[in-house]
Amino acid sequence: MTDLGNYTNTSEILKKYQFHLQKKYGQNFLIDTNILHKIVEAAQITKEDWVLEIGPGIGTMTQLLAKMAGQVTTVEIDRELIPILEDTLSSYNNVTILCEDILKVDLLALSKENGGRPVKVAANLPYYITTPIIMALLESRMPLVSITVMVQSEVADRMRTGPGTKDYGALSLAVQYFAKPEIVVRVPASCFLPRPNVDSTVVRLTRYKEPPVVVDDEAFFFAVIRASFNQRRKTLANGLANAGSLGVSREQVETALEKMRISKTVRGETFDLERFAELSNLLIHMRE
Ligand code: SAM
Repeated sequence: MTDLGNYTNTSEILKKYQFHLQKKYGQNFLIDTNILHKIVEAAQITKEDWVLEIGPGIGTMTQLLAKMAGQVTTVEIDRELIPILEDTLSSYNNVTILCEDILKVDLLALSKENGGRPVKVAANLPYYITTPIIMALLESRMPLVSITVMVQSEVADRMRTGPGTKDYGALSLAVQYFAKPEIVVRVPASCFLPRPNVDSTVVRLTRYKEPPVVVDDEAFFFAVIRASFNQRRKTLANGLANAGSLGVSREQVETALEKMRISKTVRGETFDLERFAELSNLLIHMRE
């Protein structure tokens, strides 16, 4: 099967099928074999593995994944790409192509259909929905081993940063609660067709067996984090009380902060993972 990871072969396929790239779907196809190999290598895929790929495009990375993995499921939203994928992947019998929006896929059900075995995710993600995809993967209850993905460099930095930087937010905390984030390689825009107007980075998130902090109620913990960052300019006590859905009052938040020996006027963006865990564990029991 032709190696698609270069400009000539990719443009030939696009021409053959008269395929028009869709900006709205974040279609920037990888045309650099070296980078493709780096992603697949970093994903540490073996014949035992089930791999979930998001957004296969014309199947460039899917071909490599199919060679390395036991089974590959690849989810593509653009139905115009399906006949192309059926062609470029025709010589692999271990690939399932789903034409769906990844954000609407029931990930847990998909994993159960695959025998509930551990899953490794690999993808060159569509940048317009990177954060919701990462959050959905982390919060799904799939037996996730790792996520190795190309993202916008700014998002890669957001995943790894801590309090006190402008990039710090709900994504940083969710990633660091579930996984160890590592940079694999920085990728110049020239490696894509067409070139995106942002820098890209491949990151690997390796899921922890146990999260680094103890949280009594995960859903509430994430609701507290989201509420804190939704209202960045407010004090934490006001921010959380204003988010009616949490069911906590300003006084309750202030009491919890007092127990933690933290000023009542503290802002959420100064809190690290440990502090959010402690605060949400205190609040959930006050609420009951
Ligand atoms: N994997 C290919 C590559 O590396 O050349 C294509 C990557 S391109 C950056 C992103 C791909 O995700 C496109 O094929 C796009 O159509 C697809 N996509 C966009 N939104 C999607 C969604 N909500 N669900 C599934 N696929 C999506």
